[in-house]
Amino acid sequence: MARRPIVGGNWKCNPDSMSKLDELITNINNCDTSKCDVYVSPSPLHVTYCMDKVTNGAHVCPQNCNFKGCGAYTGEMAVEQMKDLKIGWVLIGHSERREYFAETDTMLAQKLKYILDAGMKCVFCIGEKLPEREKGLEATMAVCISQLEQIKGLLDPEKVVIAYEPVWAIGTGVTATAEQAQETHAAIRKWIAGNVSEECAAGIRIQYGGSANAKNAPELSACPDIDGFLVGGASLKPEFVDIVAAIS
Ligand code: PGA
Repeated sequence: MARRPIVGGNWKCNPDSMSKLDELITNINNCDTSKCDVYVSPSPLHVTYCMDKVTNGAHVCPQNCNFKGCGAYTGEMAVEQMKDLKIGWVLIGHSERREYFAETDTMLAQKLKYILDAGMKCVFCIGEKLPEREKGLEATMAVCISQLEQIKGLLDPEKVVIAYEPVWAIGTGVTATAEQAQETHAAIRKWIAGNVSEECAAGIRIQYGGSANAKNAPELSACPDIDGFLVGGASLKPEFVDIVAAIS
């Protein structure tokens, strides 16, 4: 089954000014979205501004949502509010959310259910840390499986994209080799085939994230199980356009 590639730009808590935000949005609007789904994940403060300014069909995909809905949840964003703004996608489970904001697999499973019940789509991030990678594929997969176990019943290729992001590669300039990334993506797909269905495994898109850039994108995107990228640092630069072009 041909899977449509998907590339996302995760701006994290950047940029620090509206003038820089305009430059980043121009970058997104320069991406060719005809052969590849493109999304951008701005900081919450910038989401509505981006919704107005992104004009090329790229999706605006917030970096988080709560799992409670609207109400007395100070500091949070609800999926209902996103839907009302015509936002169709939300990203959850980023390693920085897991690490610094204590997001757990159980909480993320609740969030995913809440997102899908609301009719929205989701990019769900997973990935191992360096000690597991150093132990090899089995230890790496044990982490990925533990992060997927509670959401396996929710995996639907039409609604969920998995972003495989080895934590040791995020923001470090150290990318997984094409071989390492392909091997892990294939293992994730195999696990989904065995634990969800062959159909789901064949159809679900798995992005690679972790120091992806214009230089390494062509080799990584040539791997059969890599369906695109989740890009942090390089999404703040003009080269993001080239990363999208590499996989289109
Ligand atoms: P990076 O970040 O491309 O800067 O490594 C990726 C991410 O955190 O999604």
